[in-house]
Amino acid sequence: MADDPKVREWKRRLLAKGADVAKQLEDVLAGKDVDFAGIPELGTADKELRLRRFLELIDRGIKRADTGRFGRCAVCGEELPPAVLDERPWTERCSKHAT
Ligand SMILES: [Zn+2]
Repeated sequence: MADDPKVREWKRRLLAKGADVAKQLEDVLAGKDVDFAGIPELGTADKELRLRRFLELIDRGIKRADTGRFGRCAVCGEELPPAVLDERPWTERCSKHAT
C-alpha cells in the first residue's frame, strides 16, 4: 500500500539513496574516486554501469511503493522480511529467488 507508513518510510529511504547514488555517478563521470561500499555488484565491473543499474533498481522500488506491489518477491510474490527491506529497500526477490 502506498499509504502504509512502513512503505512510505522505505520509499523515503529509496529516494534518499537514489540522490546519493546519482551524486556518486556524477563523481564517477567526473573521474573522481567513489566509495563503492554498500553498492551491489549487479553483474558488472564497470563503475558507471554498476551505478546506473543500481539507480534503475532504486527507481523500480520507488515505482513499486506507489503501486502497492512493494515488498513482495518479483518471482513468487512472497512478502520480503521487513528487516531485509530496512537494510536494502531496493530488494526485489526473496532469498529463494535472489540472483
Ligand atoms: Zn520468491
